[in-house]
Parts: sequence; C-alpha cells; structure tokens
Amino acid sequence: MAICRGEDPDLFFPVGAGTSGPMLVQTDAAKAVCLGCPVKKQCLDWAMKADPVEGIWGGTTEAERRAMRRSAARASRNTAGAVA
Ligand code: SF4
Repeated sequence: MAICRGEDPDLFFPVGAGTSGPMLVQTDAAKAVCLGCPVKKQCLDWAMKADPVEGIWGGTTEAERRAMRRSAARASRNTAGAVA
C-alpha cells in the first residue's frame, strides 16, 4: 500500500519556481516519504508512462522523469544504431 495515503497530498506537489529554497525543502520531504514506499517502482512506472504529470511520483520530480525519458530514448537510439 502506498505510504503517502496518510500524508497531505499537497506535499507531493511543490509550488514554486526552479530550485528555490521552500520548493526544494518540500520536494526533499516528499521524496523522503517515497523512499520507503513499497509501491515506489509501480508508482514511477505509472508516472513515466503518464507523463507529463506534475508532482513527485515514485520519488522523482517531473524534470527528473523528463531527463530519464530522454536518457532512455538516447540509449534506445544508440542500440538501434549499433544493430543497423
Ligand atoms: S512512491 Fe508513489 S505511492 Fe509511494 S509514497 Fe511516493 S508518491 Fe506515494
């Protein structure tokens, strides 16, 4: 069961621009909750497929998931290029 069920949902949707102090603190607090979540992988998988989706999911921010998707796409292109 998701351990964020008992948390304030707003915790997982930090408001602010860039990497400002309060936003960073809230992001880290949300990630700390995710860290011990038994469904973290499923949560992240969902967010990766559903993106763009705002907020902290599976212990990642939207920007981190975007970077992960870019990295996976790059790796996929490199693999395809190696085979061709
Ligand atoms: S990993 Fe997902 S389900 Fe688990 S605490 Fe974080 S946001 Fe909630």
